[in-house]
Amino acid sequence: MDILYLIIPSVIAFAIIYYTVYYLLSLREQKIRDKVANELLSDFDYEKEKKEIKSYANLFQVIQMCPICISSLVLRDGKYGEFWGCSSFPKCRFTKNKF
Ligand SMILES: [Zn+2]
Repeated sequence: MDILYLIIPSVIAFAIIYYTVYYLLSLREQKIRDKVANELLSDFDYEKEKKEIKSYANLFQVIQMCPICISSLVLRDGKYGEFWGCSSFPKCRFTKNKF
């Protein structure tokens, strides 16, 4: 019985130290991730990107291609009528209205 009085506090102390170290390491990892993301996005111009994405979207709309995986779109029959769906379904789930 005496040995339990020795083991239980050691196990609790170990668990506390383990989770503290784990928590500190994950905080550090998050900091590194934030730093990398900030560096990568430092010259990101949201309005410019938005315009570019819109023009790509228009292009894909004209040639009936999936803007996500560049497969062709096919006309499908759904519960609410016809719609354009990606031919790579179910790998890609892009859809858009027929009109
Ligand atoms: Zn697709």
